[in-house]
Amino acid sequence: MSGDTGCKVDRVCERWDLTMGDELRERWRGGESLRELETVFNEAVLRAALQSADADVIDGEAANLYRLLTDDSVSAGQRVDAEARLRRAGLDPTAVTDDFVSYGTVRTHLNECLGIETTRDTRLDPDEGRTTVLKLLSRTESVTERTIARLTDQGALTIPAPSVTLSLRVACDQCGDEYSFSQLLSRGGCSCGAD
Ligand SMILES: [Zn+2]
Ligand SMILES: [Zn+2]
Repeated sequence: MSGDTGCKVDRVCERWDLTMGDELRERWRGGESLRELETVFNEAVLRAALQSADADVIDGEAANLYRLLTDDSVSAGQRVDAEARLRRAGLDPTAVTDDFVSYGTVRTHLNECLGIETTRDTRLDPDEGRTTVLKLLSRTESVTERTIARLTDQGALTIPAPSVTLSLRVACDQCGDEYSFSQLLSRGGCSCGAD
């Protein structure tokens, strides 16, 4: 016990039983901006809030609701609808949106709680890059598997033995080469770099 209660990110994580430390660190190392991390974090808060209220959360719903609750281009009516969705789930919209953090808070959390320097001058080595991207792929695969399982349970989908594989390919428009992401990192570049 250090007596330190942590920053707002930590308090909000505790309240909604979220573990975001690794994900924020990975995403930051993968080149996402503080603004993107802000969105990722706040959407996770919204998803956790809905799930804690036992609301049936469909994939993409938290992201959509987050946009409706925060985007300035959204009409007042749409925002009211989004708040009504939270109320139907038994949530107080203000209490949930009060738990949203700013990108400045995310930066403080990265700097002070995770010990990550957020000035973008640190070099990314290929192994780190590979790990970050492959973890993201595997997350996408598990979300897809869970979605298929739920749709199967509901009778909306029939597939006895689903096997999900996400392949990531990168092409160069100049030489026309195409590689899997891993191959590209192993080769160190496309044909354009070869003598
Ligand atoms: Zn923190
Ligand atoms: Zn090329």
